[in-house]
Formats: sequence, C-alpha cells, structure tokens
Amino acid sequence: MINFQYSRANNVADAVRQIAADPKARLIAGGTNLIDLMKMDVEQPTRVIDITRLPLKQVEPTAHGGLRIGALVRNTDLAYHPLVEERYPLLASAIMAGASQQLRNMASTGGNLLQRTRCSYFYDTATPCNKREPGTGCSAIEGLNRMHAILGASAACIAVHPSDMCVAMRILDATVHVVGPAGSRVIPIADFHRLPGDTPQRDTNLDAGEIITAVELPPKGFAANHTYLKIRDRSSYAFALVSIAAGLELDGDTIKEGRFALGGVAHKPWRDAQAEAVLRGQPANAATFARAADVLLREARGYRYNAFKIDLVRRCIVRGLSQAARGRPQSQSSKKIV
Ligand SMILES: Cc1cc2nc3c(=O)[nH]c(=O)nc-3n(C[C@H](O)[C@H](O)[C@H](O)COP(=O)(O)OP(=O)(O)OC[C@H]3O[C@@H](n4cnc5c(N)ncnc54)[C@H](O)[C@@H]3O)c2cc1C
Ligand code: SF4
Repeated sequence: MINFQYSRANNVADAVRQIAADPKARLIAGGTNLIDLMKMDVEQPTRVIDITRLPLKQVEPTAHGGLRIGALVRNTDLAYHPLVEERYPLLASAIMAGASQQLRNMASTGGNLLQRTRCSYFYDTATPCNKREPGTGCSAIEGLNRMHAILGASAACIAVHPSDMCVAMRILDATVHVVGPAGSRVIPIADFHRLPGDTPQRDTNLDAGEIITAVELPPKGFAANHTYLKIRDRSSYAFALVSIAAGLELDGDTIKEGRFALGGVAHKPWRDAQAEAVLRGQPANAATFARAADVLLREARGYRYNAFKIDLVRRCIVRGLSQAARGRPQSQSSKKIV
C-alpha cells in the first residue's frame, strides 16, 4: 500500500501553484493512464491533484476561424462535437479509432497528449527501462519489440507514442496552450512531443509545474479529402501498429497541398516535410504516394520483431492517401475496408 494525498484544484492558478510546489505530485484528469501507472508502481505520486473541476471543458470557435479545445474536453465529446464533425472530421475519426467507448468517455484532451508509451517493459518494474529508470538500459532493443519504433529511435529507447488523436492534430498544425509559474506559452504540436535521444524519461517539452489549458486548431481541416487509417491487431481496443492521418487539398487530380503523419512508428507523431514536398503539384495517384513513402522511410530501421512495419508503413501511406484523394475516408465504425 502506497499512501498519497488527494487535493482538488479550484482554478487554473491554484492547479499551477499546487503542482509547482511538489515535483512528486501528479495532476489527474480522466485518470485512465495515471491510475494504471500507479497500480503498476510506475508512478508513485505523493499527491494527486484533481483538475476535473477546472473550467477547461469548452470547444469554441476562435476569432481566426479555428477551434479552441479545452484541456478537459473528453475524447467522446470532442469526437461528436458538431464543429469537429463538420470542419475536422479527420480528428473525430482518429479519436474514434482509439481505446474503447468507456475510455473515451473519461479520457481528456490534455491527458491524451500526455499519455505514456505502451512499451510493456516500461510497465514491468522488474525489467530495465531507461524511460522509467534512466541509466538502467532498454529491454526492448533486444527484446519483444514488435510494437516499437522504426523512425527517430535512439540507443536509449525505441518506444512509440501511443496516441491516435495526436497524429491527426499533427497534420492540423495544432498548438498546445500551457500555463506555468512563469506565465503562459504556446507550443506547436510539432515541438510538443520529443524524440528519445539520451533523455527518454522526458516525453514532452512541458516544463515542471506547467499545465495544459487548451489545444487550438487553425482553420484548415481537410474536411473534403482526409482519412485516418489505423492498422492494429484487433479492430478495436488496440493500439496502432501503424496509423496514418492524411489530408489533401486538390485541384482536380493535382495535389495543391498534401500532409500526412504517422502513428505507431516513433516517439512522437511522425511528419516529414521532405516526403510531403514530393506530393506538391503531382497527380494524386498511387505512384506519387509511393514516392512520398520512399522518402519518408529513407532512414527507417527495423528491429528483430518489427521490421515488417517498414513495408506496412509504405502500404499504409499509399492506401491512406488514396482514400483521402477519393474523398472516401476510412470508416472507424465498421470493419469495411474502403
Ligand atoms: C486499455 C486502454 C486502451 C487505450 N487505447 C488507446 C488507443 O488506441 N489510442 C489512444 O490514443 N489512446 C488509447 N488509450 C489511452 C487513453 O486515450 C489515455 O489513457 C487518455 O487519453 C488519457 O487521458 P486522461 O484524461 O485519462 O489522462 P490521465 O490519466 O488523467 O493523465 C495522464 C497524464 O496526463 C497528465 N495530465 C492530464 N491532464 C493534464 C493537463 N491538463 N495538464 C497537464 N498534465 C495533465 C496527468 O498528470 C498524467 O501524467 C488507451 C487507454 C487504455 C487504458
Ligand atoms: S523502449 Fe523505451 S520504454 Fe521501452 S524498455 Fe526501452 S527505454 Fe523503456
């Protein structure tokens, strides 16, 4: 039995004050990741600070035509919000591909951004893990690494970020709004999650004592031509082996702008400007998409059990972008493959 204190934050300033005062405290929102980590002894907070009563539950249009999503908006509420369904259906689709209905009913936007890797060694305190206990080694590199990274990994950690929502947010160029003891700041989602390097214990660039208050989306939502395609071992309630969020802006059959990001392949949602540049001005067909895939995979490296992901990514990119080009997004509510 490990004792911890429980307190409630009354407002954002109070939450910042409480979390900044105790480096071993943890904020709790939906609790769907934190409580699991506590049960597995991976997290041992001295205090759990309940932020669920903070006024961060609104989804609102911004003055510039975008959308502001409060950090405590539940995944279900976000996916079914009329403005998200209409203007950012890609985001709705990505959220619906994640977890289960019950989990999505509890999971918050901020918590989803900060959920930790699903590397099984990270959750198993009997094994070495540089992310959980820096300097002990990485059990996955020579171990069971089927779910692990093929891009951006390091000799210290080959874990992947497990979120679906964040992959869609990555191509929507979301910004993460945070408040800390030094004031507020805005972090582009591209810079929010980190690669492991030699500090895999740090998943994000959120500083100690900072809390997420909102995520903002710019106006461009790729509502006409998008898809979120998630390849996994079961058709629900499973993390991605590989996923792709794709958005295209077309002029007839020609690509004016194409964006795509991958989940399940790196320590952060993976987007590659060079691969997207291949799409610009080209016909929206499988040959173009395959060339973009080759560029994205130029530095991919597989390990003993996950080398299959390299070919899977290639096919996922071609299929995901083809579905987006046809305006026939992947359905997450049925098993039908479009
Ligand atoms: C069985 C299972 C399957 C799942 N499958 C998927 C899946 O397929 N795809 C997917 O994307 N996700 C999946 N999830 C993950 C789920 O979506 C996350 O657990 C959830 O999004 C976390 O949100 P939460 O509000 O419950 O976070 P919590 O557990 O409350 O918090 C998570 C972390 O975020 C911190 N935190 C929370 N809110 C804030 C804030 N506003 N500011 C600063 N720090 C904050 C907490 O301190 C904690 O460290 C799965 C989870 C489970 C248990
Ligand atoms: S991949 Fe990362 S999280 Fe998994 S065992 Fe290695 S260091 Fe730990």
